[in-house]
Amino acid sequence: MKRILLLHTGGTISMSTDQRTGAVKPSDEHPLHKYSHLFEENIEIVEEDIFQLPSPHVTLQHMLDIQKRLAEAIEEDRIDGAVITHGTDTLEETAYFLDLTLDAPFPIVLTGAMRPTDEIGSDGVSNLQNAIWTALAPGSSDKGVLVVMNEEIHTARYVTKTHTTNVATFRTPTFGPIGIVSKHEVRFFQKLVFDENYPIQNITKKVYLLKAYADMDSTLFEALASTEIDGLVIEALGAGNMPPATLPGIKRLLDKNVAIVITSRAFNGIAQDIYAYKGGGKHLKELGAIFAPGLTGIKARIKLQVILEQENSADLMKTRFN
Ligand code: ASP
Repeated sequence: MKRILLLHTGGTISMSTDQRTGAVKPSDEHPLHKYSHLFEENIEIVEEDIFQLPSPHVTLQHMLDIQKRLAEAIEEDRIDGAVITHGTDTLEETAYFLDLTLDAPFPIVLTGAMRPTDEIGSDGVSNLQNAIWTALAPGSSDKGVLVVMNEEIHTARYVTKTHTTNVATFRTPTFGPIGIVSKHEVRFFQKLVFDENYPIQNITKKVYLLKAYADMDSTLFEALASTEIDGLVIEALGAGNMPPATLPGIKRLLDKNVAIVITSRAFNGIAQDIYAYKGGGKHLKELGAIFAPGLTGIKARIKLQVILEQENSADLMKTRFN
């Protein structure tokens, strides 16, 4: 009999609606506990509530706690797949953190819900069921950590939440989902072309994320330069360009040896050094900024954090992002 480790961490999928006030919040009994019997006929579910947090409360330390529990399961060697339920607001960050820091011999699948489990049309139980089927499917191995929502299978590396409330919120811009769960069937259409692993044990570095905008100046960069900072990710304009007034602050950070990684604030496409004008991508690269093609700002922040915990050589870092 196959064994699935089911870890609950909180989020809407773990919450219920207060019928009096309409507020969505954690209830005394975890709403999903009622449903695990649905799967028990052919598989054994080992269910644990690691914590019960709305995902805006999830920190890198919590992500590390989930990573450690999964590392234990890898060590014990008695699990065929892992499913983690998580709030959708930061689900993509936890998923990518686990993708970068674990090398698991079994599939790891994250899922959540946009509607609490007791709401009409709730997506929680069907997302959980699809996530379990995906974790059990032989084709799910060697594809990195997966995110299953709304009958689609996405990679942790590229998936992002795109809508505040719609159940079809998780999308993979530019590349699309790598598979679907259609009724009982799990089918893949794409696979990741490379895999990387940084088995970190601690979180110690300070890594920030800023989004660029027209007429941006150096104020925020100067403010960061006067803090203890190890890395900064910028969601730059277009293919990866910055307004010239930001350059004094960016240079100050680079002079302090702060790793600066450039992504794009655009929803589709990849960041590249194309333009040679002042503040253009080529100029930023000459100054020492590193480009992260294909990653969103929040994913690049997780990756920079994890890499900085492991190594601090500018040359190695460039290789890691390319
Ligand atoms: N605010 C909730 C959370 O991320 C949203 C959700 O789970 O869908 O915890």
